Amino acid sequence: MQKDIATPVRTRAILEKYGFSFKKSLGQNFLIDTNILKRIVDHAELTEESAAIEIGPGIGALTEQLARRSKKVVAFEIDQRLLPILQETLAPYPNTTVIHEDVLKADVLGMVEKELQGIDDIMVVANLPYYVTTPIIMKLLEEKLPIRGIVCMLQKEVADRISAKPGTKDYGSLSIAIQYYTEAETVMVVPKTVFIPQPNVDSAVIRLTKRKEPAVSVKDEPFFFQVIRASFAQRRKTLLNNLTSHLPEGKQKKEVILAALEQAEIEPGRRGETLSIEEFARLSESLYPIFK
Ligand code: SAM
Repeated sequence: MQKDIATPVRTRAILEKYGFSFKKSLGQNFLIDTNILKRIVDHAELTEESAAIEIGPGIGALTEQLARRSKKVVAFEIDQRLLPILQETLAPYPNTTVIHEDVLKADVLGMVEKELQGIDDIMVVANLPYYVTTPIIMKLLEEKLPIRGIVCMLQKEVADRISAKPGTKDYGSLSIAIQYYTEAETVMVVPKTVFIPQPNVDSAVIRLTKRKEPAVSVKDEPFFFQVIRASFAQRRKTLLNNLTSHLPEGKQKKEVILAALEQAEIEPGRRGETLSIEEFARLSESLYPIFK
C-alpha cells in the first residue's frame, strides 16, 4: 500500500517541494492525522460500490483515504496551485478525478450525471473551507442531488447550530434549514492540533443523512423559510412581535398574525427557539393565505 499523504513529515515534504504557501482566504487548513481521516471516512459508511464527492481536496489527504474505500472519487478544488500537487499525490489512485472549479459555481448535478453514472450510493465527504461552510452545505441540499448524505468537518460552533434541538441556545434558522432536508448529528469533535496551519477555532465532524422527503410538507418552501427567519430575527422577542415586525409590509396587523397563531395552536408569547419544525410548518400554513 502507498505511504499516507497525511503524516506531518510527508505533508511538509510535499508542500516544500512545490513551495506551497497557505491561503487563509481559501480556508486552507490541511489534515495531518491519518487516524482522524480514517474515522471521517468510517462515518460515511462507504462500500466498494459507492462514490464520494469531495470539496477542497488540498494535497489529497482525504481523497486518498476515500479512493481506497470507494469505487470513485470526484473532488472540486478552487486553487489552481494545488493541481500539479494532486496530480502527483493521487497518481496511484486512478479512481480519482479532480475538477478545478469553485464548488459554489459548479454544476454538481451535471458532474454526477457525467462522472458517476450507474453508481447508486453517493456521499459527499469533505474537510470544508471554513469561510463558506454554510453556503456549500445549503447548495448541496437545495439542488436536490442524488446523494445519501454529507459527512464533513467544519467549525464546532456551526456544527452545534446545525444539529441543535428546539429549546437550546444553538437552535435557529440554520438548524431548521438543514434538518428540513436531513437528519443531522455531530459525530466527532476534533482538536486543532491535527491541522496545519492550526485553525483559530475548534472543529467537529457532522453527518447529515438525507431524508426521503423533507421533514414537513409545506405549500411554499420560500415562504416557510421566510417565516422562520422572521421568527428568529430578534431572539429575545416573542414570536408575535418578531412576526409583526419582520414579515413583509402590508397586512402585517397584529390581530391577523394573532389569529394565525391561534389557528396553528401556538402561544403568541413563545419565542421562535422553542418551536419544532412541525410547529413552524403549521404556522407557515396558517400565515400563507394572509401574506400570499
Ligand atoms: N481536504 C484537505 C484536507 O483535509 O487536508 C484540505 C481541506 S482545506 C480545509 C479546504 C480546501 O478547500 C482547500 O484545499 C481550499 O483550496 C479548497 N477550497 C476553498 N474554497 C473552495 C471552493 N469554493 N470550491 C472548491 N474548493 C475550495
